Formats: sequence, structure tokens, C-alpha cells
Amino acid sequence: MIAAQLLAYYFTELKDDQLKKIDKYLYSMRFSDETLKDIMNRFRREMENGLERDTNPTATVKMLPTFVRSIPDGSEKGDFIALDLGGSNFRILRVKVTQDKKQPVQMESQIYETPDDITHGSGAQLFDHVADCLGDFMEKQKIKDKKLPVGFTFSFPCAQTKLDEAVLLTWTKKFKASGVEGMDVVKLLNKAIKKRGFYMWGRTGTNACYMEELRHIDLVEGDEGRMCINTEWGAFGDNGSLEDIRTEFDREIDRGSINPGKQLFEKMASGMYMGELVRLILVKMAKEGLLFEGRITPELLTRGKIETKHVSAIEKTKEGLKKCMEILTRLGVEPSDEDCLAVQHVCTIVSFRSANLISATLGAILCRLKENKGVVRLRTTVGIDGSLYKMHPQYARRLHKTVRRLVPDSDVRFLLSESGSGKGAAMVTAVAYRLTEQARHIQQTLAEFRLSKNQLLEVKKRMKVEIERGLKKDSHKDATVKMLPTFVRSTPDGTENGDFLALDLGGTNFRVLLVKIRSGKRRSVEMHNKIYAIPIEVMQGTGEELFDHIVHCISDFLDYMGMKSARLPLGFTFSFPCHQTSLDAGILVTWTKGFKATDCEGEDVVELLREAIKRKEEFELDVVAIVNDTVGTMMTCAYEEPTCEVGLIAGTGSNACYMEEMKNIEIVPGTEGRMCVNMEWGAFGDNGCLDDIRTTYDQAVDENSLNEGKQRYEKMCSGMYLGEIVRQILIDLTKRGFLFRGQISETLKTRGIFETKFLSQIESDRLALLQVRAILQQLGLDSTCDDSIIVKEVCGTVSRRAAQLCGAGMAAVVDKIRENRRLDHLDVTVGVDGTLYKLHPHFSRIFQQTVKELAPKCDVNFLLSEDGSGKGAALITAVGCRQRELDAQQH
Ligand code: ADP
Ligand code: MG
Repeated sequence: MIAAQLLAYYFTELKDDQLKKIDKYLYSMRFSDETLKDIMNRFRREMENGLERDTNPTATVKMLPTFVRSIPDGSEKGDFIALDLGGSNFRILRVKVTQDKKQPVQMESQIYETPDDITHGSGAQLFDHVADCLGDFMEKQKIKDKKLPVGFTFSFPCAQTKLDEAVLLTWTKKFKASGVEGMDVVKLLNKAIKKRGFYMWGRTGTNACYMEELRHIDLVEGDEGRMCINTEWGAFGDNGSLEDIRTEFDREIDRGSINPGKQLFEKMASGMYMGELVRLILVKMAKEGLLFEGRITPELLTRGKIETKHVSAIEKTKEGLKKCMEILTRLGVEPSDEDCLAVQHVCTIVSFRSANLISATLGAILCRLKENKGVVRLRTTVGIDGSLYKMHPQYARRLHKTVRRLVPDSDVRFLLSESGSGKGAAMVTAVAYRLTEQARHIQQTLAEFRLSKNQLLEVKKRMKVEIERGLKKDSHKDATVKMLPTFVRSTPDGTENGDFLALDLGGTNFRVLLVKIRSGKRRSVEMHNKIYAIPIEVMQGTGEELFDHIVHCISDFLDYMGMKSARLPLGFTFSFPCHQTSLDAGILVTWTKGFKATDCEGEDVVELLREAIKRKEEFELDVVAIVNDTVGTMMTCAYEEPTCEVGLIAGTGSNACYMEEMKNIEIVPGTEGRMCVNMEWGAFGDNGCLDDIRTTYDQAVDENSLNEGKQRYEKMCSGMYLGEIVRQILIDLTKRGFLFRGQISETLKTRGIFETKFLSQIESDRLALLQVRAILQQLGLDSTCDDSIIVKEVCGTVSRRAAQLCGAGMAAVVDKIRENRRLDHLDVTVGVDGTLYKLHPHFSRIFQQTVKELAPKCDVNFLLSEDGSGKGAALITAVGCRQRELDAQQH
């Protein structure tokens, strides 16, 4: 007994002795907490370098923004491939998440044919075809030798047991390839892909990601919210910052690797190199006679003979030594019990070092999170994947313990991610796919708004048809584009002279103006005006109230100017469709825009004005002309530029006028000369002729409007509605979960919230994404960067369509003028007014381009009108007065 005890004691002594020797031998692999804290600090500095704009380019730890905000594990890189089989087309997409501020997510895709003999052939043929297409796509993208994650969307009923396994239950749609039902399609695809010598993405090594505050990520704009950062920490140390702790074994591993000098931290810490590290240590120890009595076998010298799973097995508490014996025996080194004990200890030191290193970097991230959150005690969960962590008997426990020691004020929970190594890739592709799917749905939604040249030519053609219908006596009554005569027969000639009053009703503001026109050498126009509000209850009250209010404002203005007794001639700019029978008589056809006063439609508004002046009994006026704002605009420009024979408004509403041949205006007697026609083109489409290009969003805007079913073209083109169209699209995208985290805010539900001026701001090229976000935030829309990109694209698409549709209408007009005059080529000037045209950053350019493209035989010059409604009304009044005098002389 005593002898046995003695022996045991001796053995323990010997064991301790042996282990101590190894500890000493591998001294440089064992870190004190001090060293670990030092490593932690070094990593923190590297992280900061990666996050900051100035230092990022040279930083080793790249801290890649993933643009993922919702998924906890986000080891994603910025480049993905997605296969989409089972939709109407077989598509391959590449999604790049870049640091390009304008376009952080770029997508390229190609559609491949799947001929019937493939969809109905054998499964092998089908997947070979898919792999061939993938090969072709990668070739074209020049990424053939890149390892990109591939996501596979297979839109058929599948039983899914894991993220990366899907057993096809039954083919549907046009597919019927044999031998696939009941099989795992992911496996089939992988097989076909492998045959071609490129591979789907798999992950080894070590890496970590965490949620970083956006304000710290210089590479991504935005300052609120958080984004998943892929640290790419495997490259930690590549700048030399870990030299002091790297051992000769680490250097040897690096030298023998395919990427010497790179991923140095990974080579020290990851499971991938662990077995190899142990092997190199054993070789050296054997060479020095410290193990196996100096025996060295070819197996021991063979790279890869000790694997990480062997390290795990050797470190098992109970059977570890037995396993060690087996493994070493297989290497032919004839190990003794002592050797086994020693090798087990070597394994412990190597794997412990890995856990320590990971603890230090993880600790750095946790410290950062703690500071970001500004809490005394950090509560967080760390999700971990990787076979080392999962399979190694002691690894997880050691890691947890060390992390908790390094970051003391914390409650850290460690969560093992469940589904094996495929998960990383599956997660990445899931994210990629979510992005591509989202992008696809958004593009599908917006595609309806993107009109082809043929569609625009069709719009032009239909406008021409409607113009004819409006002009012809027989069809005029039922025509939607009314082509209203204005009794303005000529543009100004410069001899106009006198003082005139003008009213401007129907735009955003109601104004009263005094316009002093001087002819001759001192030709000039001088204007004074005052803006008055028209309260909504007056706009939508009774006609009498409306006109009394107008007269009240005129009275105030005359007092203000001290001209109450002058009995001035007045031009009334009334920007609504009116049937005119003379220059000073106009029967309101229908209210448009926001107006809805009762007892006005079907009445002569000049009479209504005259009556209201009489009721007031304060002053007299001579109402000479009722003027549409388009006509006022044309006249103002024509005063400066005689070739101006067209007027256009692109403001709250949309409308145009032009000089038409008298003989074509069948509802006005006479065939000599020309007359300006107020087209009232806003109503274009009211007979359904644009229904094929109207979207559900246009319909929703229409249904929400004061004049449902009317002014359909205007509702697609003008300032009053563009924002509403955008809002409808945003609501829909949000409902479908593509925007604003799927939350429809009260703001978004508010009609009119999205004014057209915001479109102008958002679409401005000079504006950074961050500012777009600020605008949306001002509107009460809590948006992320991604949201802002989408909103900007929606706005751009809606305003582009507006400009193009408007351009198609204008192309019809100028071509009509050209044909009227039987010219092969027409030079003409269009006078334009309207804030949408003047202030939107792209509208005027796209509009002009469209006119040029659709009416190539016309050279159209565009002239901005200055205050067409005021100055133009006065000019028309002046021309009208002159005409009246001429008429009087003749009689
Ligand atoms: P109106 O057409 O009412 O006589 P405007 O030509 O000034 O007057 O147009 C006003 C309309 O222009 C507003 O109703 C709004 O839809 C639009 N708008 C206002 N500001 C902007 C802007 N910055 N960019 C584009 N459109 C704008
Ligand atoms: Mg106006």
C-alpha cells in the first residue's frame, strides 16, 4: 500500500514536473491578464482606425459596414450572388454592397433562358444548365475565381430542415425535370457547381461582427441607429502590431500558408491552424529529444496530420489520454504515457491561447459596446458559431471565463448559433437575398412609372387626337381637352401703353397688381402687387363669398395704392377652364385644383366679379379681359420674344395654350388669322385614354382628390399631385415591409405631407444622403440610410415621369403648329411659368429633352416667364383696350 501511495505521489510529482517543463517551453504562448488587456487595447485602436474615414484606407482591421441592421450574425461580405429559379425567368443577380455613398447597394442581373427541353429533361441537365449559366455570369462579371456567397431561391414547394437544405416535394409551374423530386436541391446544385471547378462560399477562420452606432461609422452616412459591422478581425496584426506575441511556430505556419503576412491573428487563433500549430511544436520538441525519445516519423513531419478535431479529442477530460495515445500511435512515434501527458498539455496551451486571444478581441468589442451605450453595466448576448467553440471540450468555458474577467462590469450571455457551418453562408445569402428581393420589388413597383419612348410617342399621338376633338364643332362638347378659345388674337407689338389692374386667381396665392406699361423708346413695365390669402372656407364656400372676398382685397389694394377713384381697366387672370364667348366673358366649366365654391360652375365669372364690385359700392372698374394664366405667360414672353406662340404652366396645375389657326377653331366664327387656344390639357385622359399608363397609385391619388375622375393628366404631371403620388408609393412599400421597418407612421398617412418642394430638395444632386434623411426626419418619417435611398429613387421616378408626360403633350402641340403651317421645320418659343418647372432640379431638363426627342422637326426654345399672370393679364388688357378703340372707330 505504502509503495503504491509512494508511486502515485512520485507520479504526480513527475507529472507536475513534466508539465512545468512544457509550460516553460511554451512560455511565450501563455498570456497573463495584463498581456491580454494590452492586446485588447491594441485591438480597440485597430477598430477605431477601421471606423474612421482618414485611417480606414490603411487600417488592417477593416470594420466593414454590412448595411445589415436587423440580423444579429452578419459575417457578410459586400458581394453576393443570388440565383432565382422558379419565377417567370431564371435570373442570376450580383449584389454589391459598396462604400459608394450615392449607391451603396449595386445590383446587376441577367436573365437566362430555360428552354423546355431543360425544364422537362433530367434533373442533372437542369442543374448543369443552372451551373453553366452561373459560370457564364461569373465570367462576364469577371469574378470567376472569387469565392462569392451564393444564395439560391428555389420557388417550388420544398421541405426545409436546415437553412441550407431543401427537399423538393413536387415540381410546379413549367418545370418537370426528372429525378429531382424527393432530393435536396441545394446538394444537387452544389454538385453541379463543383463539377465546374468553382465553389460556393464556405467559412473557416475567425471573424466577428457587432452592432456599431452609425455615428461612429464614417464610411456610412447617418448618425442615428446602429449597423452591423463585420470586423474582419482575422487581419489584426497584419501591420505588425502583434509581433511581440507571435512565436516561431506562428511564423512557420504563416510562411507555409497561401497568404504569407496576411490574416496573422486568424492564424494564431482560429481552429483552422490549431492542429498544425500543435504538430509543429511536437516536431520541435521531438527534435530536441523532449518527446518520443527523439523519434521523428514521416507522418509527424507531414503537414495536416494533426487536425483541430484531434486537439479537441486529446483535451477531453476522461478519455483524452487514451485518444492521445491512439493519435500519436497512428503517427508512428511510439508514445509513452508521459509523452501523452505532455502532448495533452501542449494542446491545452495552444487551444487556451486561442481562447485567450479571442477573449481579448471580443472583450475589446464589448468594451466598445459598453461605451457606446454609456451604461455602467453591460448586458448583452454574444452569438458564436464555429466548430472549435462547439466541439472543443473546454474552449467555450475558458472563453466565457476570460471574457468575463477582462470585461468585469458586464453580464454577457453566450449563445451558440444552432445550425452548423452552413449557417454563416446561409445567413449572408439570406441577407443578400432580402436585399435583392427588396430591390426587385421596388424596381417592379417603379417600373410602371418608367415610360418607354414608344409609350411616350403614343401619349403624344393621343394628345393630338384629343386636340382635334376639342377643336371640332361636332366633338367639342364631349371632348376632354377642351381647346377653349381665348379671344386673344395677336401677341403684343410693343405699342401697348397705360396703367392696368390685374387679378391673379387660381394659383397658390391670390394677388392684386397694378401694372404700368410704357411704350416707345422708354418701353417698360412696372408692377406693384400685394398678396392676399384666400382661406380654405372661402375657397370652398359659396361663390358670393368668394367674389366678395376678392373685391374686398381689391378695395384694400386700391387704398394701399391711393387709386380708388381711377376706374382702371382690369385683366382678370382666372386659371380655371372657362368657356369664353368674348375677351371679357368666361363661363367656368369646372373648378380644378383646390377650389370648390358653389354657384360658380356654368356662370360667367366676369359677371360674378362685376356684381360683387357693384355690391361693394366703393369703386368702379372696367373689366376688359378674362385671362388664363397660360395665356398670360405666353403674352409676357411674346412681349420680349415675338416667336413665342405657346404658353406652358408647370406649377400647382399643368396646362398649355398656343396660337391656333382660326379656321381650325370651329366653335368660333371666322377663318382669318389666329387665336390663342387655352387647351386645358390637364383633363387629358379623363375619357380613359391614358388608363393603360395610369398606375394604382395614380388612382389612389385621384380617389383622394376633390375632383375624382377629372384632370387625370394633370394629376400625373403637376406640383399639386407629385408628392401625393410619392406618398402613395411609400405607403405601399412600407406596407410590404420594404421601407420604414414596415411601420406606417401617422405622418405618412397624412394627406399632402409630401409637398412637391420636398421632392425638389430630396432630388437635388448636391444633397448627401444624410441630408435626405434629415428632410424625411423633418417630415416625421424616421428613416434609415437605406430608406432614404429608396425614397430618393421614388421621388426621381415620379418627377421624371411627370416631366416626360408633360413633354409628350408639348411635342404634340409644337408638331401641330408645324403641320398647321405646312412646315418641314418649325422654330418656336414656348413661354413657361410654374414653380415646378423653375425650381425642381431635373424637371425642366427632362421635359425639354423629351420634347426634342418626340418632336424632332421642331426647334423649340424655352423662355421663362416672369409673372405671366400679372404682366400678361395687363398686356392682354392693353391689347383688348386697343382693339375696343379700333372697333369703336370702325362703327
Ligand atoms: P401656381 O401654379 O399655383 O400659380 P406656382 O407656379 O408657384 O404657382 O406653383 C406652386 C406649386 O409648385 C406648388 O403648389 C407646389 O406644388 C410646387 N412647388 C413649390 N415649391 C416647389 C419646389 N421647390 N420645387 C418644385 N415644385 C414646387
Ligand atoms: Mg401661377
